[in-house]
Amino acid sequence: MSRTTPPRPLEITAVLPQMALLARTATRLHPRAGSPSPHDGLGGGPLLWPAAEPWPYCDGPHVPNGNPALSPGDVRLRRRIRAAAASRPLGQLRFTPEEVAIDKQINIGRPWPEDPVAMLPVAQLYVRDVPLLRPPGRADMLQVVWCPFGHPPEPKPRTALLWRSAATVTTPPEPAVVQADGYVPEPCLLAPEQVTEYPHPMELSEELQERLQDWNTWQEAGAAPDSSYEPAPEEFHWPRTVHRSRLEGRRLDPLGTY
Ligand SMILES: [Zn+2]
Repeated sequence: MSRTTPPRPLEITAVLPQMALLARTATRLHPRAGSPSPHDGLGGGPLLWPAAEPWPYCDGPHVPNGNPALSPGDVRLRRRIRAAAASRPLGQLRFTPEEVAIDKQINIGRPWPEDPVAMLPVAQLYVRDVPLLRPPGRADMLQVVWCPFGHPPEPKPRTALLWRSAATVTTPPEPAVVQADGYVPEPCLLAPEQVTEYPHPMELSEELQERLQDWNTWQEAGAAPDSSYEPAPEEFHWPRTVHRSRLEGRRLDPLGTY
């Protein structure tokens, strides 16, 4: 599978050799369109699941926030409609009257859940693909599931991480409703890539932060592109540290959103 990490515009250790001590290996999880089987490393589902183990549910609390609850089927149908609309040539009616009616119906929403909510599969990562994982015992994969509702005080899903040995397959249940369509992961294949990442500049020592902000540092390394950055050198070094750090690894973001 193709990978999209661009080459580094410059090697930061050539500018600040001290950074070499802070380098570490991370894994980018490139999502790729496809229909994964439970035996693949994947985003979304389906997961391998031990037949004897009950599927995890979240007891909440699930506090209404004014938005309608949607079923996972609603979310998927709306995505298909939007994809179809986006594929139509310019100048054509973007949404058909039927699609508008379906969308209106979806937006009415579903009853807010009062019972525990089935967790949704988010990712299944095999150690063979992400060798940095350190599984306990004989486990060889990590599963990530989440509850598709925000959990105050933070408006984000509650996650659970499960270590597994590749085991028997079963069809897990789905929650009847979710709080937001962004909480329903789209099944996809993953193309793991090992990359080197460095800490966020704010995590560096004051001395290193000052060196990064010193224009002379970049000039001496022959890395300064032109004098237009001189009044605000952070405009140059931040994209090369913050953004690179973000693009080239993040710390095992289970969604691997790049
Ligand atoms: Zn929940």
